[in-house]
Amino acid sequence: MTEKITAVKGMNDILPQDAYLWEWLEARVRDLMQSFAYQNLRTPIVEPSALFVRGLGEVTDIVEKEMYSFEDRLNGEQLTLRPEATAGVVRAVVQHNLLYDGPKRLYYTGPMFRHERPQRGRYRQFHQMGAEALGFAGPQLDAELILMAHGLWQSLGLQGVTLELNSLGQPQERQQHRQALVAYFELHQAGLDEDSVRRLRTNPLRILDTKNPQMQDLVNAAPRLIDFLGADSMAHFEAVQAVLSANGVAYRLNPRLVRGMDYYNLTVFEFVTDQLGSQGTICGGGRYDYLIEQLGGKPAPAVGWAFGVERVLELIKSQGLGAHPQAPDVYAVVPEMAQLPLAMKTLGALRAQGLNVQMHSPGGQSSSGPTPATTPVGQSSEPAWMQLGSMKSQIKKADASLAPFALIFGAEEVLAGQVTLKALRDGVGEQRKMPLGDVATWAKALQCELRPTGG
Ligand code: AMP
Repeated sequence: MTEKITAVKGMNDILPQDAYLWEWLEARVRDLMQSFAYQNLRTPIVEPSALFVRGLGEVTDIVEKEMYSFEDRLNGEQLTLRPEATAGVVRAVVQHNLLYDGPKRLYYTGPMFRHERPQRGRYRQFHQMGAEALGFAGPQLDAELILMAHGLWQSLGLQGVTLELNSLGQPQERQQHRQALVAYFELHQAGLDEDSVRRLRTNPLRILDTKNPQMQDLVNAAPRLIDFLGADSMAHFEAVQAVLSANGVAYRLNPRLVRGMDYYNLTVFEFVTDQLGSQGTICGGGRYDYLIEQLGGKPAPAVGWAFGVERVLELIKSQGLGAHPQAPDVYAVVPEMAQLPLAMKTLGALRAQGLNVQMHSPGGQSSSGPTPATTPVGQSSEPAWMQLGSMKSQIKKADASLAPFALIFGAEEVLAGQVTLKALRDGVGEQRKMPLGDVATWAKALQCELRPTGG
């Protein structure tokens, strides 16, 4: 047998037994976004590398180590598979001058790529759904976005999700804090690990993010950014908190919350859980008032978040929440080839009325090699695909599909201008003869019977 080709490490197929849950979640999030008047934006997966180098910051983990970058083999352009979506959204907003008639609320969904070490909850291709509000300066948008995400966890019924909140202030406040921080860590250099010594020169703020238990005391006693915030930054931060408190959204102030990209200022936040092992951040975001200008646009403030679809779905599954796979409404039983054209026409009429219909068809193998010139004695001369299976075996398949109804195209009934609708669950065994001349009417009635609320 030829050797199999498998997927790239850290990149997963989402199989049908899981994909229905993805579609379900995506639909829920789409409804949520629309209920807050956010509009969909779709940007390319591949962007110029410079977008991320300039947008996320040269000394971030993502840009330093995790980007899938390559050279266009024709023109030598440096390209990157997007590691996150905010930079691409901002590029598109600037390129198409989307803010010309006022601020915009946007959302997106799609795969992102980071060359990280794969583990539970951390993949090299993963998926995010995110929201960005561009052109708004006020704290009400920070609060709106946090309320949106919080509302999503609530509507999904998720337990054990905590909101962590911090303010990174404005660049000049950060600058002052950074100087104090560098002075502090230089004084205590003996207590720093190798990584942190390097970061002291490149990105001292990231030292605060260390997971090294031996450095926790040192980091806890370091100068806190919040103490360097001016009156405006504090007022902004307090206004966000006031809305959250008034809406009953619990949060924990985490002065060490810094996030992985350089573009943030003022509010930053993460939704975390302790139920997913080490990869417990399900959603992160914040304000990025300088990114639009940094990427060549007219200065405009913005704020946004993204959640990791894989992590949220893992939480949904582990808490026994979510939808069930959908069975078809009707399984069509077609015992003979002669009835097939009429059956397929009828099923089209059923689908036109909103019914989900699965037609019986036998499986098979692709034929390898030439067809034998003579049929071995004792075997049917019909090709396998003509042998549709007995009525009994087809009804068994209908039952296994979990469809509430089988629609039977038996030769005699079709001759009489009818088909049989057989109940497989409620009122099991009950049979109704349906006229082939007026499919739309009874199909519509059946659709109402199955979905009385129109859902
Ligand atoms: P970030 O863009 O790093 O703020 O990430 C936003 C969210 O995306 C995180 O909170 C995670 O839920 C998810 N995420 C980030 N990186 C990965 C990854 N490598 N694998 C799976 N999910 C991820």
